[in-house]
Amino acid sequence: MSIASKVWIDGKIVPLSNAKIFPFNQGLNYGACIYEGIRFYSLKKGSAIFRLEDHLHRFYYSASVLRMNLKVNQIQLKEAIIATIKANSLKSGYIRPMAFYSDSKMGINILSGNITIMILVWPWEEGKEPKQVRLKIATLKRISKESVDLKAKISGYYASSLLGFIEAREAGFDEPLFLDSQGFIAEGAVNNIFFVKNNTLYTPKKGNILEGITRDSIIKIVPALGMKVFEKNILPNFAKSADEIFLTGTGIELEKVIEISKIYAKKSGSWDVTDKLSSFYCQITKGEIKEFKNWLTIINS
Ligand code: PMP
Repeated sequence: MSIASKVWIDGKIVPLSNAKIFPFNQGLNYGACIYEGIRFYSLKKGSAIFRLEDHLHRFYYSASVLRMNLKVNQIQLKEAIIATIKANSLKSGYIRPMAFYSDSKMGINILSGNITIMILVWPWEEGKEPKQVRLKIATLKRISKESVDLKAKISGYYASSLLGFIEAREAGFDEPLFLDSQGFIAEGAVNNIFFVKNNTLYTPKKGNILEGITRDSIIKIVPALGMKVFEKNILPNFAKSADEIFLTGTGIELEKVIEISKIYAKKSGSWDVTDKLSSFYCQITKGEIKEFKNWLTIINS
């Protein structure tokens, strides 16, 4: 991964080497940190950030869950993101706003603590063909809505993703697929999942998943392509008869699932639906589909 040379930290854009973080920091210690992953794409003229308002909305929701008193509001953060992209002269890439408890104290009492906000950006290749991945059903169950507020994107939650990822890699798979505590399919380590059967799409319903913005985009664009999508409880065996399975996430956009543990293996057959959605999604991010242009925040160069 190539990294950008300048970061925004508490109101200032500074060279990466000047971005200092105090070691006594509860964000690092307890994962008392929130973040977003956002993409921006190059257009014929300038660039566009994809679904920025929705990402900022989730960011401020996550902040409220951790009772973070952010010193910049949503409009100011949006301006800071655009300024950071411009300072790094990037036309397309990835944006990672983060906020974490950064008081010079340790211990679990984060309440009323100071918050550091950072915006990192880096280049990200556009227009890549969807990757093919092999998933291992994780032994550990997904953290549930009974344990945490899953609508928030809080760093500490990712212990679950990390443990599943380690298990999957050590068993020779690419990534984990988590079941919820009732045995229904939940999501991947950092992505949501869709199943295609007879040109109809199915995805695990909200509850024990992070409500991905890419998932939401797919749900909204499927009807525009003349298909239907259902959000429901899905058991692993459902995968056995799927024509296509794909993952969604801001970074990966869509990824093709070619194997799930011993349940599913796609040796041949078409990827018609996944390919169609993937190229339509790509056109949307490039501002080529009028109906979805309101998902773009244009950055003029
Ligand atoms: N689930 C989890 C656990 C994630 O971390 C992510 C990445 N943010 C997703 C799903 C996909 O979300 P999005 O489409 O908003 O990137």
